[in-house]
Amino acid sequence: MIRDLLIGLAAALVIVLLWYQASFIPMVLLAALFLLLFRFSNVKTPRFNTIGKGQFKRKLIDFNQIGGQEVAKKELLEALDFVVQPQKIREMGIRPLKGLMLVGPPGTGKTLLAKAAAGYTGSVFVSAAGSEFIEMYAGVGAQRVRQLFAQCRSKAKRANKKSAILFIDEIDILGGKRGMHSSHLEYDQTLNQFLVELDGLGSNDEVNILVIGATNRPEVLDAALMRPGRFDRVVQVDLPDLEGRQQILALHLKNKPVAESVDLEKIAKETFGFSGAHLENLANEAAILAMREKEPRILEKHLLEAVDKVIMGEKLNRKPGEEERWRIAVHETGHALVSESLKPGSVSIVTITPRGKALGYIRQQPERDYYLYTRDQLDQQIAILLGGAVSEKLLLGNRSTGSSNDFNQAVELAKKIICAGLSSLGVVSIKDLPRGLLHRTIQKIINSQEQWVHQLLSRQLELLNELARYLADKEKITGDFLREKITRHREAC
Ligand code: ATP
Repeated sequence: MIRDLLIGLAAALVIVLLWYQASFIPMVLLAALFLLLFRFSNVKTPRFNTIGKGQFKRKLIDFNQIGGQEVAKKELLEALDFVVQPQKIREMGIRPLKGLMLVGPPGTGKTLLAKAAAGYTGSVFVSAAGSEFIEMYAGVGAQRVRQLFAQCRSKAKRANKKSAILFIDEIDILGGKRGMHSSHLEYDQTLNQFLVELDGLGSNDEVNILVIGATNRPEVLDAALMRPGRFDRVVQVDLPDLEGRQQILALHLKNKPVAESVDLEKIAKETFGFSGAHLENLANEAAILAMREKEPRILEKHLLEAVDKVIMGEKLNRKPGEEERWRIAVHETGHALVSESLKPGSVSIVTITPRGKALGYIRQQPERDYYLYTRDQLDQQIAILLGGAVSEKLLLGNRSTGSSNDFNQAVELAKKIICAGLSSLGVVSIKDLPRGLLHRTIQKIINSQEQWVHQLLSRQLELLNELARYLADKEKITGDFLREKITRHREAC
């Protein structure tokens, strides 16, 4: 209705102006100004995700639904006592906890921990992402920050709760170091407003708000955000270890029909470096594979294939020609033989099925999770990477572009050796090294491994050839089969 009235008024104004033959230019400028103001004031306010009274039971989770992360859970629970026992905190004169930062790689369960925190403390859960605050218009972010805190209070009151957990994912976007963005004003104003709101939180408030931030780039956060009294506690949420991976797998397979013969520890061993999100995806993919094969239960082979799928991507229809297939088989067998020679029992699977960007690959299984590497271990990894190119040269007389990725990784490992002071250069700053010297040292490290691999595979040419033929034929060989062949070959020699 207001719209019709405005249109009518504008039409009347135009007729009057025409009647008096007045100039239109000031009017047009004025209208443009109004339009601009209207557009600015009408910037859409995002709807922040809230879990209030009705949805509470349905969406919040408890800490038992989070696998692994024992240290993070313990630290978080300690911090949450501030919310659970406000009276005691007040009596003891303890400064209330206002902010808690969850730091860790993507998919490790930071959002889950924040939701579990809301469940544990009986709080309303409101979540937003850092990117929702940043607009091209100065002042909008600050306005959203105010709205968000207000929303926490009103939701808690409506749900009859005394506390609210405000979860801000990607907090680095909102709380990045001030002055580092090109559009300083908007970013800085938003962060300033956020700090003002944080400072305004008190233990005597009607609704206690605890802000939980999550980031995987803590180094870019503004120091003001992390100072005592604001985000007091930093909880590290790391990739799960072997036990954690097994627990997470069990959690995500709980609602799926899994064969009793499945050894979850074995699957957990195969998934070094997987996050909780990867493991959830793995469980899902295994169920899809079982369904495709019309199997009523998920078998170990489905889970193992799902590992490959999560690491490398979906199987491709790409079909290399006979000659290329043979080269790929030779290449992958080379990697596998070097790996088994250096670390017996390390190869899990060798395949020439194209997946994602790879035409073939070997999957290794670390005997345990490693956090540190010695020079010998890094040299071994370089040797395994070079095994593909060396075997191509030995059996086919030349190399192909299929080794470029292996070489890139070998160079990165050589740099790691230099950086860690494990090379002949001793302890050096890699960025201050003359480029020529750096290059020569990398070459030296890689060449010595290449020579060693060359000698190793030259002594096993017959075995290399036999295994590669088998791989080219069958497309996939298991680590057990590989080891059996190696043992038989050694016995025959
Ligand atoms: P991001 O940093 O990308 O926002 P995040 O650390 O917040 O990720 P979540 O959103 O909590 O990760 O996890 C994504 C999904 O991964 C969850 O919904 C869950 O299915 C699974 N997941 C991650 N970690 C765990 C865990 N520790 N236990 C069980 N499931 C997990």
